[in-house]
Amino acid sequence: MIEVLETDVLILGAGGAGLCAALHAADASPRLAVTVVVKGLLGRAGCTRMVQGGYNAVLTPPDSLEAHLLDTLAGGGWINDQELAWTLVREAPRCVLELESRYGCFFDRRPDGRVHQKPFAGQTHDRTVHKGDLTGIEIMNRLAEQVLVRANVRALEECRAVELARDADGRAAGALLLDVRTGRFLAVRARATLLAMGGGPTMYKVIACSADKAADGIALACRAGLPLRDMEMIQFHPTGLVVPGSLMTGALLEEGLRGAGGRLVNGRGERFMARYDPGRLERSTRDLVARASFLEITEGRGTPSGGVWIDVSHLGATTVERDFRGMVKRCRDFGRDLAREPVEVAPTTHFMMGGVVVDPACHTALEGLFAAGEDTGGVHGANRLGGNGVAESTVFGGIAGDVMAEFVAGRPAPRLEPAALEAAARALAAPLGRPGGGADLYALWRELREVMWDRAGLVRDGAGLAAAARDVDRLQALGGAVGVAGGPAFNVAWQDWLNFGSQTTAARLIIASALARRESRGAHYRKDFPATDRGPLYSVRVRAGDGAPVVWTEPVALTRARPSGPTAPVTVETGD
Ligand SMILES: Cc1cc2nc3c(=O)[nH]c(=O)nc-3n(C[C@H](O)[C@H](O)[C@H](O)COP(=O)(O)OP(=O)(O)OC[C@H]3O[C@@H](n4cnc5c(N)ncnc54)[C@H](O)[C@@H]3O)c2cc1C
Repeated sequence: MIEVLETDVLILGAGGAGLCAALHAADASPRLAVTVVVKGLLGRAGCTRMVQGGYNAVLTPPDSLEAHLLDTLAGGGWINDQELAWTLVREAPRCVLELESRYGCFFDRRPDGRVHQKPFAGQTHDRTVHKGDLTGIEIMNRLAEQVLVRANVRALEECRAVELARDADGRAAGALLLDVRTGRFLAVRARATLLAMGGGPTMYKVIACSADKAADGIALACRAGLPLRDMEMIQFHPTGLVVPGSLMTGALLEEGLRGAGGRLVNGRGERFMARYDPGRLERSTRDLVARASFLEITEGRGTPSGGVWIDVSHLGATTVERDFRGMVKRCRDFGRDLAREPVEVAPTTHFMMGGVVVDPACHTALEGLFAAGEDTGGVHGANRLGGNGVAESTVFGGIAGDVMAEFVAGRPAPRLEPAALEAAARALAAPLGRPGGGADLYALWRELREVMWDRAGLVRDGAGLAAAARDVDRLQALGGAVGVAGGPAFNVAWQDWLNFGSQTTAARLIIASALARRESRGAHYRKDFPATDRGPLYSVRVRAGDGAPVVWTEPVALTRARPSGPTAPVTVETGD
């Protein structure tokens, strides 16, 4: 028998989205029971803690909400959901205020006491609010403290969501969890459930994101039959560290270095961005800079260790050491002096722009199920601007908390389907003690990461993607039959087996969507379709099918702004 816990609001994931949702729901009424589930430790796991550069919000003129919206849409290749983007832009200033005045964050100040905002790539104004170059630690520490003092919030740490629970009518009813410490399954019955597990493109060889993430939220949504969008849009950040022989390869050097004037130089000493984006150079958007670096490296103009150089030494050692303390320390750990010499960097897999289809109130297609943060798609379109990620998770997390609190009012608790939960638990525990069958889980995982990097990475083509689809199907089948030694408690290999299942599920969605987008746009570059389609704008939608994923397209609704032609002015509609 699986133990059942009761709650009103169930939040799966505890990054910026999950914690803001928990605080908003808990504060809506002290009578509401809120449960937060986190795969790691509260406040410590996920990517929000890793946020370096900062948080985009319009605070003072001459910046404006219109400018932030247009930067976000232009950066996103105009396939964003404009209502989601507008919600982000409109709510971000209020959210920064809330983080400071309600939850106790303190961001860097100018000498006159106003919040300091720094330049970030792809933005027309200095808009990025920050705490030095380690902004996420400030945000997550304060949010976690606030959660801990709310009597009506319960946190289940080192507990992972492994399946969504449905009632007999198919409505969301909570989730099946696995307590990583004991290896026991438990169910949570909830009147509203939030997916906030932060996506996580960890199926790629080189990554910048938190390694505890495995696209579990994407996989759960897919298994529940939900539609997802723009899954082909994987963000590769241009400045991941290159540390030969170290797992730290791929760890990020923040975007503010380029914003402050950092130069990228290839192995021949050429400032190569002059050839790719002569107007903006290193302050071009991430998709362009990452691809340019990748091409320099793969075409033989890289550094000895297979990267390019980032050089900020001309800004002066004192400035770099003062403004980029975290980055200087990170480089020093590897014997490099960022303030005084160039450091080797290369593209690294960073973020999923695609995800679950939601509306601006965080509703999904499944009644009772909501989603926020990196698990969702649409806000960023084809490319996320630096600083819009943590804004997205905190803005939409807060909205989800408010909406769920309203949704559960007066609503009866759903009935769980115990037989379905027992069957899911049995299937998930199947590898424990099963003979290995010859396949080595870690060899399969390494191959998956190579396949995704080589064929579904920065430069793609139809033949490579089709081969990747076949490879991932094969790896998923082999992984499904793997046996795992040891018992259920604290079994790392079992957890990795579960991760592998989610990663391959998400990989299939990425590849199927990338095959369907027969053009190059934003982060998605097809060398067999190098041009951007001039026809109507569309979003790629995907959901689980009987065999291969089912893919279709939907037109982008230009509800707020439309891209300007050579002469037409950009129009922006910002009324509510
Ligand atoms: C190195 C780095 C630097 C970044 N810098 C910036 C920046 O400067 N500005 C910016 O705007 N954005 C930045 N980002 C992006 C930003 O971190 C994300 O956009 C944002 O934090 C995502 O928030 P989230 O709440 O959706 O996910 P996360 O913060 O990643 O939280 C996900 C949560 O879900 C949990 N989880 C995962 N799977 C499960 C499961 N199965 N069951 C239970 N819990 C689960 C995780 O443990 C975690 O608690 C950066 C990202 C990285 C990796």
